[in-house]
Amino acid sequence: MSALPELCGHAELQERFRTAAATNRLPQSLLLHGPEGVGKQQLALWIGALVLCDAESGPRPCGVCTACRRVGALQHPDLHWFFPVSRPSGSHTPVYPRAPEA
Ligand SMILES: [Zn+2]
Repeated sequence: MSALPELCGHAELQERFRTAAATNRLPQSLLLHGPEGVGKQQLALWIGALVLCDAESGPRPCGVCTACRRVGALQHPDLHWFFPVSRPSGSHTPVYPRAPEA
């Protein structure tokens, strides 16, 4: 079972990113934008796993190697997860979103 969150509806993007990574043409930075709930965070995690996966054969990311498991848990030391944090009006306490479900 994969340690990465399920990624639905991005098959074409996944293939483009996989090809770009395999040919060392993956950009150094990517901006993912779109409506809420379309899977941008899951796609970003998938891309992180694609880059960091330790699998020596088979499709990448494998979803089961140590690197993929750490990415899925947001615990890989080379994965830096940045996101905007909302703060309710009048509050000094930010509201942190939860990590995507694996
Ligand atoms: Zn892997």
